[in-house]
Amino acid sequence: MAEGTAKGQNGRAGGDTIFGKIIRKEIPCDLLHEDDKCIAFHDIEPQAPTHFLVVPKKPIPQLSKAEDSDAELLGHLMIVGKKCALKLGLTNGYRLVLNEGQDGGQSVYHIHLHVFGGRQMLWPPG
Ligand code: AMP
Repeated sequence: MAEGTAKGQNGRAGGDTIFGKIIRKEIPCDLLHEDDKCIAFHDIEPQAPTHFLVVPKKPIPQLSKAEDSDAELLGHLMIVGKKCALKLGLTNGYRLVLNEGQDGGQSVYHIHLHVFGGRQMLWPPG
């Protein structure tokens, strides 16, 4: 199967990262949302009263590896993020973060959107 498709990484849907294992239901998560394109679940080490992740099922490792054809999928992650934020009562605002690569602080190389809420976010971020 071609690289970049849902089964393009190690031949397994979801890719071979901790998030791939969550997508394949090999390890549990605190699920918020799932559809044919993505999954959203609470972060295991929350950095805010509400902290969840939105992860595409397609195992794009990081933003710099995304292709033009991924634009709709990446936009979908934001739409799911805002719907989950509403569902969790974050009516006073929230923050979306996408960590890219080493300097960006990325630790899991399966692209994902962080959504933080429930407290005043600071600027600049650390
Ligand atoms: P990043 O540093 O941007 O790659 O973010 C990775 C995030 O994944 C961190 O906030 C971790 O706390 C979170 N994380 C790692 N393993 C799990 C897991 N099993 N369930 C939920 N969140 C996880």
